[in-house]
Amino acid sequence: MNRAQRRKLGIKGKKPDLEKKIGLFDKLPSQCTNCDAPYDKKDKKMAMTWSVVVREQENKVNLYSPTCWENAHKMLDQMKRDLADRQQIKALGETNENKN
Ligand SMILES: [Zn+2]
Repeated sequence: MNRAQRRKLGIKGKKPDLEKKIGLFDKLPSQCTNCDAPYDKKDKKMAMTWSVVVREQENKVNLYSPTCWENAHKMLDQMKRDLADRQQIKALGETNENKN
């Protein structure tokens, strides 16, 4: 498929934003993407505490229970800290190299 054909298909498949959002709501999973804990779409408390991540490129909706969301953030924080440490070590190494 060439680029022009792909563009043509893209325009053809384009929908108004509202319709697109409703479509994504339909795709809302009935369980946590990570741990498969059941999610009740009618439960207002769950709607407030669970996290929805829309992956428009994949046309997919991921849903995370509060526990999994918290864990994911803790993991991200840890990763950021690890990365920062590594960069610091690298920076220190470069400083030492400059001294020599
Ligand atoms: Zn979960």
